[in-house]
Amino acid sequence: MYNPKSMKAEEFISHDEVLDTLKYADENKDNFELIDALIEKAAERKGLSHREASVLLACEDEVRIQKIYSLAEQIKKDFYGNRIVMFAPLYLSNYCVNGCTYCPYHAKNKHIARKKLTQEDIVREVTALQDMGHKRLAIEAGEHPTMNPIEYILESINTIYSIKHKNGAIRRVNVNIAATTVENYRKLKDAGIGTYILFQETYHKESYEKLHPTGPKHDYAYHTEAMDRAMEGGIDDVGLGVLFGLELYRYEFAALLMHAEHLEAVHNVGPHTISVPRIKHADDIDPTAFDNSISDEIFAKLCALIRISVPYTGMIISTRESKEVREKVIRLGVSQISGASRTSVGGYDAPEEEDDCSEQFDVSDKRTLDQVVKWLMELGYIPSFCTACYREGRTGDRFMTLLKNGQIQNCCHPNALMTLKEYLMDYASEETREIGEKLIIAELENIPKENVRKICEENLRKIGEGIRDFRF
Ligand code: SAM
Repeated sequence: MYNPKSMKAEEFISHDEVLDTLKYADENKDNFELIDALIEKAAERKGLSHREASVLLACEDEVRIQKIYSLAEQIKKDFYGNRIVMFAPLYLSNYCVNGCTYCPYHAKNKHIARKKLTQEDIVREVTALQDMGHKRLAIEAGEHPTMNPIEYILESINTIYSIKHKNGAIRRVNVNIAATTVENYRKLKDAGIGTYILFQETYHKESYEKLHPTGPKHDYAYHTEAMDRAMEGGIDDVGLGVLFGLELYRYEFAALLMHAEHLEAVHNVGPHTISVPRIKHADDIDPTAFDNSISDEIFAKLCALIRISVPYTGMIISTRESKEVREKVIRLGVSQISGASRTSVGGYDAPEEEDDCSEQFDVSDKRTLDQVVKWLMELGYIPSFCTACYREGRTGDRFMTLLKNGQIQNCCHPNALMTLKEYLMDYASEETREIGEKLIIAELENIPKENVRKICEENLRKIGEGIRDFRF
């Protein structure tokens, strides 16, 4: 039975409720009166339920789809301004005991080079990432109780935070590792992680079990209830996601929103972020073997609908997507992107030509961070390397309250400008720096409070003199 407050996976992601939702959406996909009312409701910026949003997803009327896009753009501007937060993934280890059929790290793959970074390797990798200008990482690892135990992950986080190279520092480490225990989540919290990210892959239980035939990840309930354990362990910010292509996108979309509603109902705080990965080619993985792949148009529609359904949740897009697709969905609601990513273990410090087949998936956007930063600025965005919120304790419901009140703009905007200035001073090419300096001057005008603007101007001057790490 469907119950968003239940702690049981099969009750808060009730299969029957998803099916009823899809039926309701089909029945109403041409009910323009309802659809117009839902778009109006979404315009109030309080979000939409999984049922409401599913009706809009089913709607095929071009005029209304364009209205949804315009609204998504407007909501994105209102809550996130023109800032785009930058990050990079760091693969620690690809040893894995699971049998995920879409992932080349699956235990039976004997062809892939198995690698695990030592703490010395991590120093080299993180130094390379700092030399690009990254300040925020998402660490990734396969699931392996003896090769990648929690102690290894914790030691690695500690190492990452301790590396201070030139003016560089990693100021926020997000973690994307397999579902674990409350006790381990507490340890991750104590290690100072930012967001705990875990993709559901698919919410469809039967498919989930087939796609994860072996290993601990086979357990649907343990995986689906992971975010509740993470929150019980004290982690305020959790990141959801599904791997689009595995199951019917409409099923996933409804269930993803049900998961968000569950977190809100039980913990009073929804997901901090939602990621929208699509299956990519990888070592022994052929994406065409999965027949639920979605077109770029549907992908854009999903992004826009996530934006208007959960306006307070950040949306992340990785380099799995091409420059063109990224450009489209950034406009529709994405707030965080990765840049210059390597999806192999040891990929940042390795010479360009070294292909050891340890990648998790092929990257579409292969540009350097400098190119991505310049591209964003030319499109009118402010690339932000800010990590202030969680360092100032603005996490979980505190963050959400500030965001809902519009107060976050007085911190995020100046923080984005100050961290961009650091990037320009320390890492940018001359061309990028020139564009960035002009952008900062123009964007200073958009800081609402005068005293904040004054302090920001003063800090920018100090950054020019070599002082680092200012934040509101
Ligand atoms: N092993 C952990 C887990 O099970 O959650 C860590 C995450 S894994 C390193 C990161 C994510 O990459 C997975 O959750 C999956 O959604 C995604 N992924 C795996 N294979 C992929 C592929 N072929 N194409 C695109 N994304 C893929």
